[in-house]
Amino acid sequence: MPPNHYHIAIIGAGAAGLQLALAMRSDPFFAEQRILLLEKDGKDENDRTWCFWEKGEGKCDSLLTQSWAQGDFFYKDQHHPLNLLPYRYKMLRGLDFYRFAKQELAAAPNITWLTEEVVKVANGEPIRIVGRQGEYSADWVFDSRLPEEFLALQPSPSGARRYVLQPFKGWVVRTPDDRFDPTRFTMMDYRLRWRDTTSFTYVLPMSAREALVEFTLFVPTLPLAEVYEEMLRQYFDKILKIKDFEIVETEFGIIPMTDFPFEKYSVGKHIRIGTAGGWVKPSSGYSFKNCERNSQKIIENLKAGRPANTGLFSSKFRFYDSVFLGVLQAQNKLGPSLFNDMYAKNDIQKIFAFLDNETTLTEDLGIISSFPKGPFLQSFFNLLTR
Ligand SMILES: Cc1cc2nc3c(=O)[nH]c(=O)nc-3n(C[C@H](O)[C@H](O)[C@H](O)COP(=O)(O)OP(=O)(O)OC[C@H]3O[C@@H](n4cnc5c(N)ncnc54)[C@H](O)[C@@H]3O)c2cc1C
Repeated sequence: MPPNHYHIAIIGAGAAGLQLALAMRSDPFFAEQRILLLEKDGKDENDRTWCFWEKGEGKCDSLLTQSWAQGDFFYKDQHHPLNLLPYRYKMLRGLDFYRFAKQELAAAPNITWLTEEVVKVANGEPIRIVGRQGEYSADWVFDSRLPEEFLALQPSPSGARRYVLQPFKGWVVRTPDDRFDPTRFTMMDYRLRWRDTTSFTYVLPMSAREALVEFTLFVPTLPLAEVYEEMLRQYFDKILKIKDFEIVETEFGIIPMTDFPFEKYSVGKHIRIGTAGGWVKPSSGYSFKNCERNSQKIIENLKAGRPANTGLFSSKFRFYDSVFLGVLQAQNKLGPSLFNDMYAKNDIQKIFAFLDNETTLTEDLGIISSFPKGPFLQSFFNLLTR
């Protein structure tokens, strides 16, 4: 076998690439397979914090910064306390995960991590990978780079493709005295919104004196850069009523929420993963847990000799997501009351199962009936005619 040939190449050591590599590392089926991980960055900074919900124990429990069994949802004068058990809402710092993964993968003799930027992948047998520093080939390529066609797409309130952006800015703050309850987190607080958009704040207390507070929007067009900090300041002032705090870290990100058909860009043994594979839940923007679930499915598929991406995509839930995104895209101001309807009328356990694509048709109908019919029917008919 030529030295630059591998059985499996993974492009990108992010949430998806690392979870896939770790899952391969812990399955003896892959022990004899040469696996190459190509990542352009050092992955030595805390570039994001992941939150996700999970029932019982999880694979990352020893790495978590915090987890909560109790939460809150706020809208106008309404407050819905959330009792999550058997779920917990878990918080994982990116850097803690990168460090752990680096250590685990370095101990695997069959896995090579290269700092390398991939510029081109040419499908064939084997698949050719062109990097800035060298060329490689592999039988299978799992690729976290976004397809060019998606990068060219612009979100807009009237675009044919359902595409809403989830921009957010957060501050990790410290207070001189006890101001937070570390046993509860705020899932969504719609009491303060930017103009009449779908925008909210969430609060993740790590201790009585430290919390990550983020202002988030689900919008078809981005606000001006100063809006996030202005809204965060207002939230501290008017809602939390905390005047004295120190900002110790900031986080900014934009998550795409879209029904773009990412799965079409997986061809043969060149499979897109993570955001590039459509693993971000279009209606919520969450994907960390999907990366774990889908990595496991890929492994089962490879072991069974099935196409690697079998069963990764649900047309039923994609349809629901498209309809919901259509409402957020065309009638953005309705978002807060729609989320309020969902949290007011359903148990959080049912909501989590629905967002995890795990509910039955009867359960789906229970959730769907929480919403007013008009905007959804309109979005549905627009979908039929696009
Ligand atoms: C700030 C932030 C916070 C988020 N918080 C949450 C959250 O709380 N919960 C949740 O579920 N989701 C969250 N998300 C959404 C989603 O989970 C993350 O974006 C997740 O990291 C996506 O995984 P990924 O592997 O597709 O991409 P990434 O984690 O971004 O990994 C992609 C990797 O590929 C590398 N790469 C890209 N191009 C190349 C190339 N040409 N050659 C080599 N390497 C390349 C990148 O450097 C990167 O390391 C968040 C996103 C952001 C940006």
